[in-house]
Amino acid sequence: MRAAVITRLNSPWEIQDIADPVAGPGQVVVRIHACGMCYSDVLVHRGHWPVQLPIVPGHEPVGEIVELGPGTTTLKIGDRVGVSWMQRGEGRCVQCQSARPVRCEHTQTWMDLGGGYADLMLAWETGCTLLPDDLSYSDAAVAFCAGFTAMSGLRNADPRPGERVCVLGIGGLGHMAVQLAAAIGLETVVLTTSPDKAEYAEKLGAVQGIVTGDDPGKALAQAGGADIVLATTTSADLVAKVVSGLRHGGRLVTMGVTGPLRIEDMTTLLFKQCSIKGSTHNNRADLVEVLSLMAAGKVTPRVETYPFGEINDVLKRVEAGQVRYRAVIEHG
Ligand SMILES: [Zn+2]
Ligand SMILES: [Zn+2]
Repeated sequence: MRAAVITRLNSPWEIQDIADPVAGPGQVVVRIHACGMCYSDVLVHRGHWPVQLPIVPGHEPVGEIVELGPGTTTLKIGDRVGVSWMQRGEGRCVQCQSARPVRCEHTQTWMDLGGGYADLMLAWETGCTLLPDDLSYSDAAVAFCAGFTAMSGLRNADPRPGERVCVLGIGGLGHMAVQLAAAIGLETVVLTTSPDKAEYAEKLGAVQGIVTGDDPGKALAQAGGADIVLATTTSADLVAKVVSGLRHGGRLVTMGVTGPLRIEDMTTLLFKQCSIKGSTHNNRADLVEVLSLMAAGKVTPRVETYPFGEINDVLKRVEAGQVRYRAVIEHG
């Protein structure tokens, strides 16, 4: 099968012909139709994520089941599915026993089985989630990392009716976060350094797009503040500074991988009793909720689609922040 393989860090991914995977017990083989690209793929490419080379990356994969391993019970040949980053736990720890395998310290991921930039992908049956019938593969792909991350971040902030959400940074993750917050009825504003993205924010469901200079906290406070800030930027400086825009009891949830966070505004943190939380893919119900909102037409990813052969150009576009708002590789 055809696959994009990272053989050396910081080097173009090689398009290779490698052996087809075979499903073992509890596993399936998925014929991949599309796979979105995430900034984490850039981090892998640059060596900021511990992986064993050579490796096939790609963690927003969707396609159809073409092979079932022994002992699989719920999926059928031809099912349309996507595969999550975390596919199963080792089963015996407290988290697994509590039905929270994503929190297991020994999860199986694309790093163990190979990712979605290949014609065929091996996956654990437990890592596959069915796609709603009417959802296209290229849209559905975006749910599996950007959508899942954004929804878990929002749910982890414990939003209450009438609260105001601010999304900091509008890329693949942020543009989903805005739509998801608005779709569940929360007033949502956007903070971005890019005037064109601020303007586009209202098309995504935000009541206001705010262009911030180097002090997003001040800009947010002037615009009325927020109960919840969903930080999707990779800039530690912006995340640290947005604290001063939180309202009393505000929650800042950070989902981008940034450098060290240096919080200068301890006054807001203490006297407004705000909290800061990190978040990534959490309950699988969050992913299913994203897919349902997408199928209902309440959330629509904005995707740029590219043929498989252009994968290295796409990687450059993602790293340069040129994508509006998610790049998806279509396997053809
Ligand atoms: Zn991702
Ligand atoms: Zn476990």
